[in-house]
Amino acid sequence: MNQQTPILNYINNTWHQSETSELLDVTNPATGKVLSQVPLSPADEVNQAASAASNAFDTWRRTPPVQRVQYLFKLKNLLEDNIDDIAQTITMECGKTLAEAKGEMRRAIENVEVACGIPTMMQGTNLEDIAAGIDEFMVRQPVGVCAVIAPFNFPGMITFWFLPYAIACGNTYLVKPSEKVPLTMQKIFQILEQTGLPEGVVNLVNGGQETVNAILEHPEIRAISFVGSTTTAKAIYAKAAAHGKRVQCQGGAKNPLIVLPDADPQFTVNATADSAFGCAGQRCLAASLVFAVGGARNWFPKSISETATNRVVGNGLDDSVQMGPVITDESRKRIEGVIQTGIDAGARVLVDGRYPSIPGCENGNFIRPTVLSDIDPQGEIATTEIFGPVLGLIHVETIDDAISLINSGSYGNMACLFTSSGASARKFRYEAQIGNIGINIGVAAPMAFFPFSGWKDSFFGDLHGQSWDAVDFFTQKKVVVERWS
Ligand code: NAD
Repeated sequence: MNQQTPILNYINNTWHQSETSELLDVTNPATGKVLSQVPLSPADEVNQAASAASNAFDTWRRTPPVQRVQYLFKLKNLLEDNIDDIAQTITMECGKTLAEAKGEMRRAIENVEVACGIPTMMQGTNLEDIAAGIDEFMVRQPVGVCAVIAPFNFPGMITFWFLPYAIACGNTYLVKPSEKVPLTMQKIFQILEQTGLPEGVVNLVNGGQETVNAILEHPEIRAISFVGSTTTAKAIYAKAAAHGKRVQCQGGAKNPLIVLPDADPQFTVNATADSAFGCAGQRCLAASLVFAVGGARNWFPKSISETATNRVVGNGLDDSVQMGPVITDESRKRIEGVIQTGIDAGARVLVDGRYPSIPGCENGNFIRPTVLSDIDPQGEIATTEIFGPVLGLIHVETIDDAISLINSGSYGNMACLFTSSGASARKFRYEAQIGNIGINIGVAAPMAFFPFSGWKDSFFGDLHGQSWDAVDFFTQKKVVVERWS
């Protein structure tokens, strides 16, 4: 990828340069180097993509599922062959390490593999003789043209929570990547092109808010999957629903870990550090809050501080680096400000990662891992999504205190417990009002054959991404009652 690489839309199996003159720089967050410019495509170009997808729908839905998934088998193999190249692009535009970028693409591929089972997953149900000589059955049919609006932090994976299921179920599709990281989808659509999918089945439109509004308002687009911040998720949920669309919106998070005194100290600290500082804290499943219960306060703060201090930070293309930059200079400044607000409100600084000097990356958006202790449970550090490598610690006396504070929070994406007690583990997983639970796991990311189950302000809708929820979202049920006597 060089500075001259134009970012194109892909409509009806043809690459198009957007007509717009509104372009945004796409910047490598580790170096500040401009990689390309992304067009903010106007409504007209969304309309072209929606028409292409709509025209393709009738033939595609009549293509037998066993034939439709043949394209996914090809896609899986092509993604495997190109995983290093795609990971390199993810690291360059998003900043995460190469290992993290490859991990993201592994989960993307896993979703393709699961969607290859659609001929089984899409089956309906039936009952003969609901009355004498009358049979009743339910079949699943595709919804029509569907679209995903994706965030910046997983430029490859998130589209794959939806797209493989959507097209395997017989829908046609439109992808709108984050304008901050559009290069990865250029690579992925080059691969989709090589699968030989028929014209109009998958389409790519780059852009920002105006592009999204055109998608939400388009009458031929029947279903919307959104992943991003809670503020945008709420707005998109309301607008898409007002336009009569099926909609699922995954939002932001504030993910707590509980550390009990009986947890394995070294294991717990390592898992916490990977969760809080992996992807520079820019994961919807990043730990950002730790409740150290009772005697855990005697070892956890010191040990996590040492681990945070020793984290190797730099350009993710360097194999020795454990943590890359945050996405933009604006993000870096916002996170530095939130840290200061916490300190001003009385937090104790165990590790301050602001304003680091990273040789060779002087223009990058770096913050080193930061640990703040004794934070106010009702303050900004404890209650809002920071989306950076900042971990807040709160000491509590009992697991009940921790669960009660967790359940009073507004988000519900993930919570984890570290313990050697089965009874404590059961109590926690039973009582926590959170959709994704980890027990002695720092990042409880559901595999592709489970739904990605956020609750409360982390999710708006009924059906989540991945697996059976995706099949339900991308199909509508038709019930037939039949008599032939
Ligand atoms: P974002 O909400 O800023 O942007 C997401 C998408 O929405 C982008 O494609 C963007 O172009 C579009 N968008 C932004 N503002 C818009 C507006 N006003 N109107 C219409 N479209 C708009 O999110 P982000 O900063 O790219 O991603 C980070 C957020 O995503 C974090 O909050 C993170 O927790 C969340 N996230 C959640 C999950 C999950 O599964 N719950 C997964 C990944 C990321």
